[in-house]
Amino acid sequence: MKIVLTGFMTAGKTTVGKIIAAKKEFNFYDSDQLIEAKEKMSIEDIFAVKGEEYFRKVEKEVITGLLNSNEDLVLAPGGGAVLNNQLRRLMLEKAESFCLDVSAEEVIKRNEKEDVVRPLLNVDNPLAEINSLLIKREKHYQEIPVHFNSDQYSAAEIADLILAELPDQKLKIVIKAQDFAYPVLIDKNFKKSSFNKILEKIKGRKVFLLADQIVMGNHAEPIIPLIEVNSEMVKLELEAGEQIKDLKYLEKAYNILYENNFTRSDYVIAFGGGTIGDLGGLIASTYLRGLKLIQMPTTIISQLDSSIGGKTAVNFRDTKNLIGSFYQAELVYYQLRWLDTLKMREIKSGLGEVIKYAILGGNPLFKLLKENKEKILKLDKNIMLEISKISLQMKDYYVSEDVKDKGLRKKLNLGHSFGHAVEAAEKFKYKHGEAVVMGIAFTAFLSHSIGDLSRESFQKIINLVAAFNYQFFPSENIEAAELASYIAHDKKISDNKMWWVLINDIGDTYLSDRFDYKNIQKYMEEYLCREWL
Ligand code: NAD
Repeated sequence: MKIVLTGFMTAGKTTVGKIIAAKKEFNFYDSDQLIEAKEKMSIEDIFAVKGEEYFRKVEKEVITGLLNSNEDLVLAPGGGAVLNNQLRRLMLEKAESFCLDVSAEEVIKRNEKEDVVRPLLNVDNPLAEINSLLIKREKHYQEIPVHFNSDQYSAAEIADLILAELPDQKLKIVIKAQDFAYPVLIDKNFKKSSFNKILEKIKGRKVFLLADQIVMGNHAEPIIPLIEVNSEMVKLELEAGEQIKDLKYLEKAYNILYENNFTRSDYVIAFGGGTIGDLGGLIASTYLRGLKLIQMPTTIISQLDSSIGGKTAVNFRDTKNLIGSFYQAELVYYQLRWLDTLKMREIKSGLGEVIKYAILGGNPLFKLLKENKEKILKLDKNIMLEISKISLQMKDYYVSEDVKDKGLRKKLNLGHSFGHAVEAAEKFKYKHGEAVVMGIAFTAFLSHSIGDLSRESFQKIINLVAAFNYQFFPSENIEAAELASYIAHDKKISDNKMWWVLINDIGDTYLSDRFDYKNIQKYMEEYLCREWL
């Protein structure tokens, strides 16, 4: 994470910056000091000998270098750096940027106390000079979204206020295969500075908001009015669920985009669970061959899984996700608070995907789930933040080099072939995550039956599934032959091979093509007859 503190000279950028850097254990940089070291001259001498234009050029190089680095840092740029349009944009894009305000009178007072020579104040009437500079810079400083008044607060207080405004978690999803990266901003509750990252992108653009009606009812405030004020927003609110992943809603959206003359610089924002995200992603990827996309996921499945990695889809006939594309969002933003209104069944469905990550990755996630069941079901924000972090890092690992699902990424399908077959056979009576957990239990059974997974680890998986009270089986009337017939249509068949993610141990899985829909049926029959329980 990068934190930039802008503001006029003496506003306290360095003092505040050092406090924040110490608390976050980041490096602190003062661009003026770096420039002095680079040029082997004081700022005063650079101004006198080489002129302000030269100074601004070096300043731009130094700040650009820091903002493009991979380092976590706190940067206090010189007071005039914010006047450069390119630098200002870079600060807003790459960093959490804050502005410390200070009055002209206070600048004089603070300047007298310091023994630093400030070339811009070395004039006959410094107060008039400061006021004129402040007026000149005002509109640029105002572009920095969050301000603190340094006349009013001490440096330590401002540091605390800034620390409270930082995103609770900021992750970078790197899609190596496409040389592309995008941020995921996660807050427990609404924070203006994080949400501003969206507002900066959509300012003055058209926005097509595809939103879940329930989510709009509960969580539209304060974000949707902010989007509305900053963009030309049109919206389509839908009653979410699998039924909206349908070509007819795709067409409905295209009509709205067409009627409102959307162009490729405009945005689709998907605000809802995985169904809204999958549909929104497909709309964004296909209209004009690509609009910009922001995901604001509101369910556990969508926050930890579907909003990342770029898979978009609608269902076709009886088959899930048959028509879709791979299309990455430009930004993913969510608040954990949004999960508070989920029904318990949705929470459990979402946690099904977390169990999948725990079996793929092993500890610490497996241990976290095992030891914190009560807190997790109550959506304890600290634990959910930790779960978000581990799950998203895992998803990033699996997706980064295999965007198109040709190798490693297939492992994310653990439990899904069986799960999708259950969803289809039961006409979507079960939630996605509930069906995936049945698939995980079946896969553990299969892996144990063929001698890969030890009795002890098999039991640990079954115990975890049971501890969260998941169902192991579909309805009694669903037979293995029917599930096998759905599996035969599964998209996970490629080169005529059906890939299964099998389990050697918790945290140790592998891809196998040894089962097809025919020879898997025997194991499904044994699993469904429940004698192994
Ligand atoms: P969903 O969008 O249908 O949401 C589930 C239910 O929760 C809906 O009734 C919705 O109205 C409600 N809801 C959403 N947010 C809420 C909130 N904050 N408070 C109260 N209610 C809320 O489905 P889902 O479970 O989020 O996701 C499942 C879908 O995601 C499936 O279609 C699945 O195929 C897809 N998926 C996609 C990927 C991917 O990589 N693209 C990965 C996993 C799952």
